[in-house]
Amino acid sequence: MVERSPVKQNLPERYEDVLSRIRSHSLAAGRSPDDIKIIAITKTHPADIVRQAIDLGMREFGENRVQEAESKIGDIGRVRVRWHLVGHLQANKARRAVQLFDVIHSVDSESLARRLERLCAEEDRSTMPVLIQVELAGEKTKSGLPEEKVEEVAAVIKSCKRLEFLGLMTLPPFFEDAEQVRPFFRRLRELRDELARKGYFGDSSGELSMGMTHDFEIAIEEGATMLRIGTAIFGEREKNDP
Ligand SMILES: *Cc1c(COP(=O)(O)O)cnc(C)c1O
Repeated sequence: MVERSPVKQNLPERYEDVLSRIRSHSLAAGRSPDDIKIIAITKTHPADIVRQAIDLGMREFGENRVQEAESKIGDIGRVRVRWHLVGHLQANKARRAVQLFDVIHSVDSESLARRLERLCAEEDRSTMPVLIQVELAGEKTKSGLPEEKVEEVAAVIKSCKRLEFLGLMTLPPFFEDAEQVRPFFRRLRELRDELARKGYFGDSSGELSMGMTHDFEIAIEEGATMLRIGTAIFGEREKNDP
């Protein structure tokens, strides 16, 4: 059996490496590294590791399941850091999500948007920043909204006074050759630009949440503003994770 190298020991080096790759890639792409946020994806990793990440300066964390996030967010709190929900949100977990998370990346239906609005009112929460998750590969089993429905849901979000429409998110299929995700990232950007032109993001240009460990450099080249990075920062997760 090969012993797993302790994540703890590698975290500073891994993080430094990710930062320098982001820096060099954004500069090469003619972009400012300051325009690119890292959402450190902590799923399967304990609160301990999150604390070490905070000590290294990380402030934005992402989880893909409400249930797993619950104890971790309880442990770490939300004073110094912000929590992003990046996984599919089931209707019956929506209230908990509104209580726990600072940003939701995975709005993928009109009914979920309306539910979040209603729950924000019930929970006395004045603003909930959200992104629409777009499914660009036509994979029916995956969560995410087909692109032809995006504007419809964007309009619903805009009509909800407690929801703040931040931008678009996508989780493309996995390709061994990361270069093959480029068209998906490019398409998401086009959709975002179209919405921006129509004024959906007010004065801002809208966020693009795309790019993970395997493909974040390509995402930077295609305009990503939020990178969701787990493995490159925290090391490999246990095999049976989602
Ligand atoms: C796990 C996860 C990530 C991070 O994946 P890595 O390949 O470990 O960087 C990003 N986005 C979502 C939605 C995830 O579930």
